[in-house]
Amino acid sequence: MTAPLTRPHSPALDALLGRRFDVLDHGFVRVIDYMGDDAAVVQAARVSYGEGTTTTRSDRGLIDYLMRHRHTTPFEMCELKLHVKLPIFVARQWIRHRMANVNEASARYSVMDREFYLPSAESVALQARDNKQGRGAAVDPHTAASFIEVLTNVSTQAREDYDGALEAGIARELARIGLTLNTYTEWYWKIDLHNLLHFLRLRSDSHAQAEISAYADVIGNVVEQWVPYTWAAWTEHVRDAPRLSASAWLALAGCLDPDALAGALGALPERERRETMRLITAAWAAKGGAP
Ligand SMILES: Cc1cc2nc3c(=O)[nH]c(=O)nc-3n(C[C@H](O)[C@H](O)[C@H](O)COP(=O)(O)OP(=O)(O)OC[C@H]3O[C@@H](n4cnc5c(N)ncnc54)[C@H](O)[C@@H]3O)c2cc1C
Repeated sequence: MTAPLTRPHSPALDALLGRRFDVLDHGFVRVIDYMGDDAAVVQAARVSYGEGTTTTRSDRGLIDYLMRHRHTTPFEMCELKLHVKLPIFVARQWIRHRMANVNEASARYSVMDREFYLPSAESVALQARDNKQGRGAAVDPHTAASFIEVLTNVSTQAREDYDGALEAGIARELARIGLTLNTYTEWYWKIDLHNLLHFLRLRSDSHAQAEISAYADVIGNVVEQWVPYTWAAWTEHVRDAPRLSASAWLALAGCLDPDALAGALGALPERERRETMRLITAAWAAKGGAP
């Protein structure tokens, strides 16, 4: 007879269920449901490795190993379902993450929320010079205030026109098309942990637009409490780990002093130290020997 299973759960995430985390001026993120926890990642991984019961310490080590070696499928065993309220222009970026399930409020069926997003004066900035997609230096307070005023006027006017069209009996699916992109929408969004971490890497990065990053940061805080071992492994091996080209890596490895290196790598766990040393030795061999 097989032993009965208890449902895996995260007490830390249970405590957050349904709570509203405010984002931007009218947006929010709420955790609706989830499946699995760090133990579910370990449980799935042990199917492939066939190992028996282990200590908490080795569970943490296994998660670290999986993340370091991009053995990603065990992380797909956990899922998170969120209720999100977000401006349409943020939703357009967010929806590009295809490995998720989405159900959005229908503006054909119901009347759109009245709120629209307005940036704070401090977040209004000039076009960046070195990044065609990003923001650069701050603008003077007068320019920021007049930009926000224009945005407020067009958004308010578009909303009044929308309300007027509805009053005139125009179909909701047509009345909505003149609304501005900063109008808020809502959706339920469900995603597995592997793809969620991919979303967070791209959208909490400094290259992402600040408004979607604000959501990624809030969701990141939730994930950290939900799966703390996975979060620690991900920040160490993915989020904060540099990504180098082969050429940059060879150039860098060629400057490393073998004696200083032995001491510096001593701080790493044994297995990671060996793996790192193997990489460096291969780079030296490719350049004709140690520097
Ligand atoms: C800073 C930034 C700037 C961007 N600028 C632009 C832009 O200017 N224009 C624009 O159009 N987009 C832009 N994007 C969106 C970007 O190109 C991706 O569409 C988005 O980040 C989603 O990434 P993804 O496809 O990896 O994620 P997901 O769609 O969630 O997919 C996750 C992973 O699943 C796999 N996968 C998903 N679908 C397929 C498929 N059909 N075939 C094979 N593998 C698949 C891939 O491994 C993928 O990485 C930008 C994104 C960022 C972060």
